[in-house]
Parts: sequence; C-alpha cells; structure tokens
Amino acid sequence: MSEVEARPTNFIRQIIDADLADGKYQTIQTRFPPEPNGYLHIGHAKAICLNFGIAQDYRGKCNLRFDDTNPVKEDVEYVESIKHDVQWLGFHWDGEVRYSSDYFDQLYHYAIELIQKGLAYVDELSAEEIREYRGTLTQPGKNSPYRDRTIDENLSLFNKMKNGGFEEGKACLRAKIDMASPFIVMRDPVLYRIKFANHHQTGDTWCIYPMYDFTHCISDAIENITHSLCTLEFQDNRRLYDWVLDNITIASRPHQYEFSRLNLEYAITSKRKLNLLVSEKIVDGWNDPRMPTVSGMRRRGYTPASIRDFCQRIGITKQENTVEMSTLEFCVREDLNQNAPRAMAVLDPVKVIIENFSEKLDEVLTMPNHPNRPELGHRDVAFTREIFIDRADFREEANKNYKRLVLGKEVRLRNAYVIRADRVEKDSEGNITTIYCSYDPTTLNKNPEDGRKIKGVIHWVSAKFALPAEIRLYDRLFNTPNPGSADDFLSTINTDSLIIKQGFVEPSLRDSKAEFAYQFEREGYFCLDSKYATADKLVFNRTVGLRDSWSE
Ligand code: ATP
Ligand code: MG
Repeated sequence: MSEVEARPTNFIRQIIDADLADGKYQTIQTRFPPEPNGYLHIGHAKAICLNFGIAQDYRGKCNLRFDDTNPVKEDVEYVESIKHDVQWLGFHWDGEVRYSSDYFDQLYHYAIELIQKGLAYVDELSAEEIREYRGTLTQPGKNSPYRDRTIDENLSLFNKMKNGGFEEGKACLRAKIDMASPFIVMRDPVLYRIKFANHHQTGDTWCIYPMYDFTHCISDAIENITHSLCTLEFQDNRRLYDWVLDNITIASRPHQYEFSRLNLEYAITSKRKLNLLVSEKIVDGWNDPRMPTVSGMRRRGYTPASIRDFCQRIGITKQENTVEMSTLEFCVREDLNQNAPRAMAVLDPVKVIIENFSEKLDEVLTMPNHPNRPELGHRDVAFTREIFIDRADFREEANKNYKRLVLGKEVRLRNAYVIRADRVEKDSEGNITTIYCSYDPTTLNKNPEDGRKIKGVIHWVSAKFALPAEIRLYDRLFNTPNPGSADDFLSTINTDSLIIKQGFVEPSLRDSKAEFAYQFEREGYFCLDSKYATADKLVFNRTVGLRDSWSE
C-alpha cells in the first residue's frame, strides 16, 4: 500500500486533531479488538481501515487485540483467520498480537480493588432473577438482597468463585452502581461470571471470566490506547467504560468514541448469522465467494486495495445507513479495470469452423495483456481453424443493434481476424452445433482494405488448445436488500445464487494463481478458485461483472 492513501477527515479525526493540538496526547494509539468467534466480514474491514488507517496517518500505532473473554464460542481457527485477514488487507499491528486474556491476572486484581472500595459485590441471584430485578426502560430496577454484603464477605466469596467453589450460574461479581439509573448498563452490571470452560489461550487456569464491559476499558488502558473506537451500539456502555476507569488505579486514560456500523445491502454482517449459514451448510464455508467475509471476498478475487477504497468512500459518521452493494462492486471493478490482465474465455461455447483457414496451421498471435498498460506485457495465443465463441454472440437473423456475428455478415474476432458466418449445422432439436465461417486474411488487427466497416468485436478461444474450465457465476445470496431485518433471514436466501457453467479458457490461464483476477474479455472479472481448482481441473469464480448489475 502506498504510504499515505489520502484519507478524508471525519469526526473522529477532528477529535484526534484537537487532542493533539491541546497536548492531551503526544502519540495516537488505537486497537482493533475482534472477538475470535467467527471470521471477519466487510463491517470489520471498515473498523480495521479506520483504526489502522488512523495509526498510519498520525504516525501512531494500532494493536490487534483478541477480545477473548467468552471461551465457549471462541476458537484458535478464528484467531488464525483474523490475523491472516488483517495482514491481507494490508495492515500491520504494533508488536505482538495481544489477547484480553493476557490481562486476566490484572483484571482480577482490579476487581478486588473495586470490592475493597465497596464498589463490587458477589451476587447469588440466578440469571433469571438478575434479569427480573434489572427493571426496564420505563421502570427502575431493584437491589439484590446480596448487595449489602461486607467487603470481607465479598472478598472471600469472590475468592471462592475463582477457586471453583460455586457451580456455574450460582454466583457472579457485580458492580455496585445504581439500580435506578436511567441507563440499564449502569444497573449493577455483571463484571465476572463462572464458566468451567477450557480457554483457547489460558486453558483451565480460570473458571471465572470477566465481562466485555469490564475487560475492554481496562485492556485499552493497559495498552495505553488513546482513542478506543467502536460501533454505536456501545454508546450507553461508554458510561460504564468511564465508571470502571474512574474507579480503579490505572495510569492511562483512554476514551471511547462510537461510529455507525456498516450495513451492506443484500448481505449479513452479523457473525452469529454468518455462522448459521456455514453450520447449516447453506454456503460452502466461511470463505464461500458469496459471503461478505474478508476470506470470501478474497476467494472471489476482490483485492485489498478495492476493499480499502470502499471503506474510505463510505466514510465514518454517526448516522446509521445501508450501503448499496453496487458501491462495493464499483470499487472492485475500478481496481481490476486498472490492474487485471486480460484473457479470453467462452462460457457458453459453440463451435466455429473457419473453412478457408488451413487445418495444418496454428497461427501464433501476440496479444497485449492490458489495452493501455504495455508494461503488463503480452502473450501468445494460437489461432486455429476451429474455435469456440459464445452462443449468445451468434444469431441467424438480427437487426442493426446486434453488433455480433450474424449469418451472412461479418464480425471481428478480438485481437485476430474478421470472419463471416456462411452457414450453420443443427442437431435434431434445432440447436446450432457448428457455425461455418470464412476469414479475411488481410484483416489481422486492421480494417479491411476495401473500406468495409466491421462493427462488432467478439471474443473466442481456440478449440484445439483451449482448456475446459468450470466457471462459477454468483448472484445475490439473499432475495431481499435487508435480510438482517427479516424475522427468519434464512427464508430470504436466493437459491439460485450459484450458477455453474462449463466453458473453455485460453491456455495461458493454466498457470493462473488462485484469487488473482483476470478480465475475461467482454465477460467480467474472474479468478481461479482456491478451493476447487486442481492441477487437472480449472475452476474460476466470477469476481464481478463488467457493468453494474445491482442497481437495475
Ligand atoms: P458481530 O455482530 O458480527 O459479531 P461484533 O461487533 O460482535 O460483530 P467483534 O469481533 O466484537 O464483532 O468486532 C470487532 C470490532 O469490529 C468492534 O470494534 C466492532 O465495533 C467492529 N465492527 C463489527 N461489526 C462492524 C460493522 N458492521 N461495521 C463497522 N464495525 C464493525
Ligand atoms: Mg462484539
């Protein structure tokens, strides 16, 4: 990535500018704090670009911290995928990867500090009773009968919790704040709960695990985070964030700022729901090319630069909104149009025999890999008597608007000759099996000498040398623009979102690298599939079409 991709300002950058001007901070430290309970999605990409982008632009630092306080749902598979995705997006975290679980000892001591200050207590209400006592938005909560235990009693019970002396759900540590607070998060929030679960980082060392609200602010402070950026649903939690930090002895003082989540049309950005698509086998794993996950987009041929560009274009605000899929695809297309090498592939082949072209001749034609970037070089492609063109590029009859091959008329073959269709052969059902043509040998990459105008250009592959390939076309995964808000989002699945074609590609694509997109001329952008392509079988994914098909 270039050192500085000029990024527009936003309200968070304005806060940072002011903090630096005031001398509140000398250097900026941010963090990206995923919970390792799923693969990253496009929404996380927005948070990554924000946090790492700010660190880059302000010559600060950004940590990668796994927020791993719920061992039951977490896994090292997710840890590994997240690290890979962040790096693939082009970012580097400062120092080692961090884990909230690195701070379990310190967090435990801060909990004791709160107990000693009379600001936390061990509660023995059941989860259900805690919920009942909490009250509602319109009704205050009421105090737990365990709320007024002595400090010594609380210290000893918390120790008992830590030592496995309670069953799961029989006790928890709560902050002693205000059961009548208008903010429900402040009604004696739970700080620690019991879970006899093996943790992917700490094993069986702990059977009590700190809650997000207690962990996050302290982890931020331990890492000297200056600006802790999160999504709007944590707005109320900021009160608790500040309350914890104001009531413990810790030197550094981070501040939380919230921005709106990215919602993308026709996509789900909830790890829980994405997980369901995977576990119900509705998609082919987290990296299914239809998934809005970073790994899915990578497998589909999206580039890191296009995703960063997208995140920059959508900007950072406090307004909830939903971004159109065409915006994301626009960014992918822009990048690939500039950078993807060109190649030819025929998705729905019909044979063409050029009768006046020698059977013995394989004429090697040199083609540019990019129409306006000579530095991307060129390749040799053999032109032969028998070729394939796309069925949709031929008609027996057509009006003037159809600028492809028509019986009795001429068309140009891309980077090759002008051909004329002379007659067709059909099977018993009337389907065209072969189109017999003749070529004009004087027209290799130039117009006919007699001034005939040739309007259309179509693509082709040599029937003798082309390689068979499975080509996977993807449509929207959901039938509705906002599947996340449906009562049953699984009922909005588009069952025709994967269309598989058996086509032919030019031989140079034998050596193509997985996930690296080409423009298949006139068809769109495609890349070799990292999962199904083998040495014997080419499988390509359509990354994106040449034109916007979403806003139709
Ligand atoms: P999910 O709802 O998918 O589980 P999450 O917020 O629980 O998402 P985390 O792993 O906690 O997932 O997210 C890590 C960071 O990414 C958080 O700071 C969170 O605010 C941010 N983030 C998650 N989803 C989005 C989104 N759709 N848009 C922008 N930022 C997001
Ligand atoms: Mg979360």
